Amino acid sequence: MFTHDDRHQPIPRCGSTRLVFLEPDQETPLTCLHKNFHVDAAMARITEAPGDDTANAFNIDVRVNCADCGEPFRWIGLPCGYSPAQPMVSVNGLELRAPMAPQSAPDGFGQGGPGFRVDVLVPDPA
Ligand SMILES: [Zn+2]
Repeated sequence: MFTHDDRHQPIPRCGSTRLVFLEPDQETPLTCLHKNFHVDAAMARITEAPGDDTANAFNIDVRVNCADCGEPFRWIGLPCGYSPAQPMVSVNGLELRAPMAPQSAPDGFGQGGPGFRVDVLVPDPA
C-alpha cells in the first residue's frame, strides 16, 4: 500500500523533477536571470467527429521557456492530467492544458468529454 507522510518528506508534485534542455552555446540556468520568454500555445477545436463544422469544446496547451537560456518553466499548483472541466498540467509540469469556451457560450459548454488525472504516490518506507 502507498501512503504519504508530509511531516517527513516534501510533497511530490507534478513537474517536481527539473528537466533542462540546453544547446551547447547557451547560458546555463544557473547564470541566466530569465528576463525574456518564449510562449508556445496550441489551440484545439474539438468536434464530435472528424469533418464536423461545429466545435463542442476548445482546449489550449501552453508551454513557456526562457528565451535566453531555453530553460522550460513549470506550472505550479495544478493537478496532472487532462480535464474538459478545469486547467491541468502534463506529468512533467511543463505544459498547461486548459479548457476554454467562447465568452458567449452557456455554462457547462465543452465539459462532457473524457479526461484523466495522474496522482503522485510515494511508497511507504516501512
Ligand atoms: Zn534563462
